Amino acid sequence: MKILKPINGIGKKNGVYLTQEFGNVWIATQDMVLGGISIKKGDNVYKVAFKMDGHNGEDYAAPHREPAIVVHDGFADFYGDGSKGYGYNARLTWTDISGYTYECVYGHLDKHTEIPREVKAGEVIGWIDNSGFSTDTHLHFGIRKLLNGTVVDYDNGYFGYFNPQPFYKKETSQVVYKELNKPVLYFPVGSVLIPFATDYTSYLEDFADAVVVELPASEFKKFKVANKLKVKL
Ligand SMILES: [Zn+2]
Repeated sequence: MKILKPINGIGKKNGVYLTQEFGNVWIATQDMVLGGISIKKGDNVYKVAFKMDGHNGEDYAAPHREPAIVVHDGFADFYGDGSKGYGYNARLTWTDISGYTYECVYGHLDKHTEIPREVKAGEVIGWIDNSGFSTDTHLHFGIRKLLNGTVVDYDNGYFGYFNPQPFYKKETSQVVYKELNKPVLYFPVGSVLIPFATDYTSYLEDFADAVVVELPASEFKKFKVANKLKVKL
């Protein structure tokens, strides 16, 4: 089973990054009330609020109304009045040839007006917000599986949810172009090359998996002509 990541551009786009991994424990640093639940300093928030050993999914910080992405072809359903737990949330389900049904939850979304529907991997399933048991705008993404209607490993301390990390498809690397001995990097967008970075070193720190294609001036010219690429200035 392989899935896409639930947001595009994690770690590469402004404000889109992983904030909480699966299994993280959250110890309250002060007494607080979250989602109507009183939590004392020193308590494991997940234990008190949800009877779980730790965080049962991944949290991704994102700007308000950043799209959440369908991770696998399946069926989308929508739940919640926005006030508690996952807030307004979407569920994505599909059944694979081994008979397991996978169920993904997308929590803390903006109020949903969508109707249940068949969806394809890569489509938008909802918009990220701060509804439910949440302290700031983020997406909660969780995954578990069922067999014959029963959650597999329900008593694992996370109600059957497991770490999605090993199941993500490797993202294809961003390919960027550069003319030898020139500082500017170009992003291909359709038939246009967009210049977007003149600081090669700091670019590579942010985009560690990028593939930089560096061509001598004459080759760069040929490459542009062959691919009918224009350079936008
Ligand atoms: Zn979460």
